[in-house]
Amino acid sequence: MTDFLHLAAPGVRQLKPYQPGKPIEELERELGISNIIKLASNENPLGPSPLALTAARAGLEDVWLYPDGNGFVLKDRLAAKLGVAMEQLILGNGSSDVLEFAVRAFVTPQDEVLFSEHAFAVYPILTQAAGAKAVVVPARDWGHDLTAMRAAVTERTRLIFVANPNNPTGTWLPAAELEAFIAGLPDHVMVLVDEAYFEYASDPALGARDYPDAVAWVGRYPNLVVARTFSKCYGLAGLRVGYGVCHPQVADLLNRVRPPFNVNSLGLAAAAAALDDVEHLQQTLELNAAGMRQLVAGFASLDLRHISSIGNFVSVDTGRLAAPLYDALLKEGVIVRPVANYGMPNHLRVTVGLPEENDRFIAALGKVLGR
Ligand SMILES: *Cc1c(COP(=O)(O)O)cnc(C)c1O
Repeated sequence: MTDFLHLAAPGVRQLKPYQPGKPIEELERELGISNIIKLASNENPLGPSPLALTAARAGLEDVWLYPDGNGFVLKDRLAAKLGVAMEQLILGNGSSDVLEFAVRAFVTPQDEVLFSEHAFAVYPILTQAAGAKAVVVPARDWGHDLTAMRAAVTERTRLIFVANPNNPTGTWLPAAELEAFIAGLPDHVMVLVDEAYFEYASDPALGARDYPDAVAWVGRYPNLVVARTFSKCYGLAGLRVGYGVCHPQVADLLNRVRPPFNVNSLGLAAAAAALDDVEHLQQTLELNAAGMRQLVAGFASLDLRHISSIGNFVSVDTGRLAAPLYDALLKEGVIVRPVANYGMPNHLRVTVGLPEENDRFIAALGKVLGR
């Protein structure tokens, strides 16, 4: 038989696939239980805006047609909202797509890609798949250590991923520090600021002082790409829509490696409509801020430490190996996210849910901890 492992590209041979949160149906099948809650993938517990749903339903009639490959309507709306030109936008099948375009367009096997310890798991996967060298810079207080990251830049560094805030730690970089880092990079280095949680993170109720809007810097730094998504705050994770904002010439390069029709027509329609629903966004932010307070209070009541987060998720230190606790929580019908693969074996990451879900999680966590 052919040895397919031998045929695979060198980077792909050692690759471990991304581990998503466990789907509810899978746990139902495995344990035969119902009434399961999933707080594992940073989805919006309110679901999408009704305006987005209406637009997607209307779009169903036309699914026999290819989508607009250039995504004109959504780009037009985004450009107006963000104050950029349409030529500065690239649309992705989720923002993961945009991250991949950046690697495909700029990184060769001779190059280095830099990111922080505990950073989003997609960065090492994309780097390794490209056959490039991943340079992982030790974190400081769970967050990015920009001084150490700057010191790790070499002649071969071609791309730096900065997650702001980072997933799964929820840590963030203040405006002045991050902008100074970007301004100080040599010309041969591209930097991708991943703002998947931008809307949550810029909510003053979460207490983030000085959280930056990196899109405002794109005109100043042509080597900067900012990635955002409709998967998190906008509640459209299943439709897969994200975007990048950058210099028009960079957008043109990213566009060259973009597969045709990468964003489907329902996603395009729903995302454009979602931008109109200010009220849904406000409700989402209020629910998240209240839920975060609820979880943090719950951790304190269990005598557990957590990492301060400005996303819609928070990582809690269980004080012991978290894998058995994760399994025990599954038996309670509560799905959270183990993060040992992020170098955080004692932590669990939990997504902020509805008030009753947060309560149930804290109660179940207390139970499996024996408190
Ligand atoms: C969820 C997430 C993304 C992207 O998700 P998409 O669904 O592909 O848009 C990107 N970066 C981080 C840090 C995330 O947590």
